[in-house]
Amino acid sequence: MNKNILGKSAFEKSDVDLLSNEEELRYNRQIILKNMDFDGQEALKKSHVLILGLGGLGCTATQYLAASGIGSLTLVDDDHVELSNLHRQILHNDARIGTLKVTSAKTALHALNPHVNIKTISTRLDDPALALLIKEHTLVLDCSDNLNTRNQLNRLCYQEKTPLVSGAAIRLEGQVCVFTYQEDEPCYQCLSQRFKEQNLTCVESGILPPLVGIIGAIQALEAIKILTSFSAPSTGKLMIFDGMESQWNTFLLPKNKECEICQKKDINKQE
Ligand SMILES: [Zn+2]
Repeated sequence: MNKNILGKSAFEKSDVDLLSNEEELRYNRQIILKNMDFDGQEALKKSHVLILGLGGLGCTATQYLAASGIGSLTLVDDDHVELSNLHRQILHNDARIGTLKVTSAKTALHALNPHVNIKTISTRLDDPALALLIKEHTLVLDCSDNLNTRNQLNRLCYQEKTPLVSGAAIRLEGQVCVFTYQEDEPCYQCLSQRFKEQNLTCVESGILPPLVGIIGAIQALEAIKILTSFSAPSTGKLMIFDGMESQWNTFLLPKNKECEICQKKDINKQE
């Protein structure tokens, strides 16, 4: 199934994708999982994951992706580390205040796993530049903090049919959605069109640090599931975590008939 999602070349192997003895030992406790095995681990090594945003969600998700053996990560963020980030953006520290978040994150992630190839981009990308970048990656993680970037990523991932794992967290609430853009699947805009006017930020509303840990970790989990074909991806759902009650609620996310992104194609098809 995931051969369709990721394209037929995603599971073809070459010598450079094989694991060294040291890597086999490092990842042993996940390789022994029935659905992972060597094939899954080698698929992770072959993967190129693009991460937009090295704030709270990005700092959590990238740690688990790096530690679990993703081959290449590309980190995109134009912000610098500030003191007020440190309580929840745990790849950064006091000594790196004032440095670029992508540089700070790269340093921390390399210390976690030197086998991961990490590229950094510290500029805002327009549509053509971001589309080009998405084309070069196996999967995209949306760890951004604003609706414009979320909609831009969804639009371009939809065009390229590149899987997108979207996360958001604020106060004590968080949500995760997975999009692989198969036929009849909703896209992020199917959801975001419903709350066009709302764009809260952590600066205005606050955030409790473990929330970004929970949501970022689920994003990493969903990414690994897609990349390794470990289990069916959680598409067509909106997963909401209520930190006040420590409770997950999952809702079906139907395709929005008015969606400007995924319904446009269907309309063209009928013509
Ligand atoms: Zn849509």
